[in-house]
Amino acid sequence: MEINLSKIADAARFQQQELQILLKKVIAANAKEFDQIILPIAKDISTAIDCRLCANCCKVLEAGISPDELIKLAHLKGLPPEDFANSEVSTEENTKIQYLSKKPCIFLSSNLCTIYTSRPNACISFPDLERPLVKYRI
Ligand code: SF4
Repeated sequence: MEINLSKIADAARFQQQELQILLKKVIAANAKEFDQIILPIAKDISTAIDCRLCANCCKVLEAGISPDELIKLAHLKGLPPEDFANSEVSTEENTKIQYLSKKPCIFLSSNLCTIYTSRPNACISFPDLERPLVKYRI
């Protein structure tokens, strides 16, 4: 399995059309059938990745946070929760789920999470490939 980020990016650019077709298939796939493909190989994929070499997820994704986590993260930033929410958090329109909105994540430094022991549950469980209904989390 290729885990070199620049090689993956090169391959993705080279195979952009194929990836768009694959993405459409994932979107259209039956979630339980998709699980039957992914769950058996998920652990091998997760353990092969050293996040410290890449940290791309923390650079391009937005971690969902609970209301309690918002308060905790605001405290870690030394901000009142309202100020933290206004400057660092957005809310997904349909689900009302809140998430850290800056990219890269404001808590990332030199590919490391500066709040690792206090990071949100979404980060702890990420990439969360080993639970059913994985289609909705990729
Ligand atoms: S809180 Fe930490 S683990 Fe979560 S996205 Fe930010 S840097 Fe990454």
